[in-house]
Amino acid sequence: MTKTMHALMALLLLWVPLNVSAQSSGGVNWNTVIHLNQKYIDAAQIPSFYREYGFTRSLAATNKIRFTSSKTNKQKTVMDFIVGSQEVYLNGLKFHFSYPVVVKGGQTLVSQIDLVKLIDPILRPTTVKKVAPLRTVIIDAGHGGYEPGTVNKHGKEKKFTMALAKVLQAKLVRKGFKVAFTRKADEYVSLGDRVKIANQYSDAIFISLHFNAGGAGRASGIETFTLSPAGVAHYGRGLRQSDLATRTGNAQDSANIALATAIHGRAIRNLKQRDRGIRRARFAVISGVKHPGILFEGGFMSHYRDGAMIADPKYLDRMAQSLFEGIVIYKTATEKNRYR
Ligand SMILES: [Zn+2]
Repeated sequence: MTKTMHALMALLLLWVPLNVSAQSSGGVNWNTVIHLNQKYIDAAQIPSFYREYGFTRSLAATNKIRFTSSKTNKQKTVMDFIVGSQEVYLNGLKFHFSYPVVVKGGQTLVSQIDLVKLIDPILRPTTVKKVAPLRTVIIDAGHGGYEPGTVNKHGKEKKFTMALAKVLQAKLVRKGFKVAFTRKADEYVSLGDRVKIANQYSDAIFISLHFNAGGAGRASGIETFTLSPAGVAHYGRGLRQSDLATRTGNAQDSANIALATAIHGRAIRNLKQRDRGIRRARFAVISGVKHPGILFEGGFMSHYRDGAMIADPKYLDRMAQSLFEGIVIYKTATEKNRYR
């Protein structure tokens, strides 16, 4: 297998080859049922809907419904739904659904919004629409100036986000990308201004870099946030009226999850850190940018081991390399789609 092929497969899980049907699953062909005021779909429909995968369904554990692709000429795809949980695994990579999978009346129900906004763009990247050719990567180094972000004995978050940003910039420039920064120095730039700066560019993606804190020093690992689709809550809180409104970034819903999958998948695979998953949130920067965007949390500064690694330039270089590889895979994948 060539390196490129391998990279593509590892990330967007698979490029469904040429027999992909033009059918869209935007809710048109699914039979839906209503549960707690949400539209749900019986997972039994998945094999017939994603026929090109040849999915078979099995019970991998008491509460784990597994779909395994049987098309052996392609990369094997394994999709695990956990009953009663919002966690879903695609080839072992963790994603967070907006609504839990439930069993009701003998059916395993998955919310329609999760199928349409999360599963579909990954299983059928050819449905990712309106993706601009990628020329510019906008790097948003979190915090700055009088706002240090998280602080530990090794230093301040604003310093580490900038260190990571600069290494990533060098790798991207060597590959021929244009790179823009929302801040260039140790200065305070408001979230609104970061969005304004980012939206001056076109044919771009937006990568916001942060490091985490919390969990009383015990939490560790990497997580990647993408914008919640309209009707989906911000991570960690209940649905609010304001969550029903569409944000600027929602125009990129499909591209957002594809970008998150590429980058997060690469980071987890290369860095071997705890996979905290791809999550949905409505942070100001990813809500406001018009480009496909993510907010990457590269580990917990509040954790003794994560914190020490983040302070190690060699480790930050590996992290930047993972981000870089994810960006290249995303670009290759979306442009392949574009010119199909
Ligand atoms: Zn931060």
